Amino acid sequence: MTHVFDGHNDTLTNLFIPELAKGRTFFEQSSLGHIDLPRARQSGFNGGFFAIFTRPPANSPEADPMYGITFTDNGYILSERSPLDPLYVQRFTDDVIDFAHRLEAGSNGQVKIIRDYDELEYALNQNMLSMVLALEGAEAINADLSNLEYYYHKGVRSIGLVWSRPNAFGYGVPFRFPASPDIGVGLTAAGRNLVKACNQLGILIDLAHLNQQGFRDVAECSTMPLVVTHADVYSICPSTRNLTDAQIDAVAQSGGVIGVNFEAMNTHPHSSIEQNVPLTQITAHIDYIVNRVGIDHVAFGSDFDGADMPDDLNDVRGLPRLLDTLRSGGYDESDLEKIAYKNWLRVIKAAWKSTG
Ligand SMILES: [Zn+2]
Repeated sequence: MTHVFDGHNDTLTNLFIPELAKGRTFFEQSSLGHIDLPRARQSGFNGGFFAIFTRPPANSPEADPMYGITFTDNGYILSERSPLDPLYVQRFTDDVIDFAHRLEAGSNGQVKIIRDYDELEYALNQNMLSMVLALEGAEAINADLSNLEYYYHKGVRSIGLVWSRPNAFGYGVPFRFPASPDIGVGLTAAGRNLVKACNQLGILIDLAHLNQQGFRDVAECSTMPLVVTHADVYSICPSTRNLTDAQIDAVAQSGGVIGVNFEAMNTHPHSSIEQNVPLTQITAHIDYIVNRVGIDHVAFGSDFDGADMPDDLNDVRGLPRLLDTLRSGGYDESDLEKIAYKNWLRVIKAAWKSTG
């Protein structure tokens, strides 16, 4: 069985919030949610990017993910989200990071927060579960970047410039279907500075949720491979969250990688919420990227614990079925290893620095 290293999940954030955790812990097998350690062990899941994602305050109307939705004949339009208060995001982010370190400390050596490439290789070889701390939206970072190193030292190794809302650095696409990601302005001056500072420190820049102009700006000013931790193919499912052919080409030209998102709605050609769909609905996106730019630029970006999965996947234990679907589609074992973890490892090795 190949290792699996995945581009995106919301497990850490969900376990931290009692209303979402509903009594789950990381160490006991649950029937709720998608990832815990026992289920990860059964599935071959060795780790990935664990997102720290701040929700709007409970008393805000935007706390309801369906707030401001309009259904159209063939899709939906969500209203633009409001920026979050950076201090509120910092408090939550610090709390989740502390929670992650407690989780690691209480894991009896089974979980490792990964700080450099050598640690990642070591953890994979030792069969430890690797956690990369990843900010989904850069709101916790001060616009003058004065606390960027603080978060680096806390273990953050991936920063998504935006979630689907505007912030001090750029503009995240509102969820819409069918609709182009060409909405809103590009990176701010602070956004460009953040990209350059992350290049220097060795923090991966994640382009998921970013709009088209912002994506172009990162492609122009970043010296690292372009990375999109969780998104799908716009030509198959034309949602604002998905990548156009030009964006897929840009990722490949930079030596980067796209983590294909498993979400039922974001992979379906009509963005249907139907979950009783074959796993070829996901692998079609992988096939498309492979056919367009080759096997080196596609990986997994599940969105486990952050989105509704196709029934056949159900939770992390469905990964072997997804790998079997790829096998049936003609991928050999060396292709599968690239998709399942080696492409992520290559990009991480290029982006991060050694911590000695
Ligand atoms: Zn996301």
